[in-house]
Amino acid sequence: MKENEATKWSSLAPVPRVLTAAIYSARADLQPLVIEGPQPGGQLTITTEVENYPGFSKGIQGPELMDEMREQARRFGTEFLTSWIKEVDLSERPFRIVMDDRVVWAQTLIIASGASAKWLGIPGEAPAPQGFGGLGVSACATCDGFFFKGKNIVVVGGGDTAMEEANFLTRYASRVTVIHRRDTLRASKIMQDKTFKNEKIDFIWDTAVEEVLGTQETGVTGVRLRNLKTGEESVFTCEGVFIAIGHKPNTELFKGQLEMNEVGYLKTSGRTMATNVPGVFACGDVQDSFYRQAITAAGTGCMAAIDAERFLDSQTQVPAFIACEVPEEANVLAYA
Ligand code: NAP
Repeated sequence: MKENEATKWSSLAPVPRVLTAAIYSARADLQPLVIEGPQPGGQLTITTEVENYPGFSKGIQGPELMDEMREQARRFGTEFLTSWIKEVDLSERPFRIVMDDRVVWAQTLIIASGASAKWLGIPGEAPAPQGFGGLGVSACATCDGFFFKGKNIVVVGGGDTAMEEANFLTRYASRVTVIHRRDTLRASKIMQDKTFKNEKIDFIWDTAVEEVLGTQETGVTGVRLRNLKTGEESVFTCEGVFIAIGHKPNTELFKGQLEMNEVGYLKTSGRTMATNVPGVFACGDVQDSFYRQAITAAGTGCMAAIDAERFLDSQTQVPAFIACEVPEEANVLAYA
């Protein structure tokens, strides 16, 4: 693609929501362009075995699934562009997308920038080799729970996500201990009741996790705790740490331009994926704090592509279309 060109291209990034949107839009001859960051990929590219994506009776490796989808989208004419997006102007069509090295214009935009798990920012939490991420530290029980069969696990957080993760993990773990910074949970009553009834779950209250302990050879061996009421410090022995303190949608780029809820998830209209700006659609975790599964994200990617196609059909202009995967890191690195 040349610099500063009005695009009739399509691009896709290696996550199911974007790839599904690209497959549908490419087959509808919308010439999609997917913009992906230098380190593209969603949860599935850091997951090993994917066992719950329909169609793979023996499971499939996350990166392999993404490669297959990518090739499927490419087969129908999807184009890929790797660049950081610095700025987006949605005030008029065609929309203006400013990247590090070029500007493109698009008649429609599908936003699939996802949501990032929040982290505590404590020593030992980072991905290996800096910390024990991938060696016992995780933020996704559905992705990684299977690897903790018979192990003693800690879940950090007091909301619905933490309760859901804790309950899910009891399928595999010998014991799950929820560590929460207060003495009451934020989770809904139904989730609280379910968790309190689960005999494999214990609670440690009023306590902060201050460090994840372990070695690169053994993985996680424990967590260092501090009681926030007494100040007392202790070490809790465990082999896994699930951080479940919520997610942050990657929507910094669209602040002031698109309607969001109070925590930044993009609002879509009714049963469609349409945002408040005509021609801009959103799919996947950037607009869904509830299901957050690869298959549900892919489903909304399909819906967004169909919505975009119908939108373009209703317009007189030449259809040009972009599916936009804003990398998680870009919120910090490129949009500041
Ligand atoms: P949340 O409701 O914001 O809860 C986050 C929890 O993490 C809170 O208990 C919070 O403590 C704790 N936390 C936040 N930052 C922390 C930090 N730096 N150190 C220690 N603890 C920290 O987030 P969520 O649980 O992800 O839920 C988000 C939304 O999705 C909610 O509306 C929820 O109902 C919904 N959801 C629903 C379901 C379901 O119904 N099955 C499942 C998942 C999510 P404090 O309580 O002290 O603030």
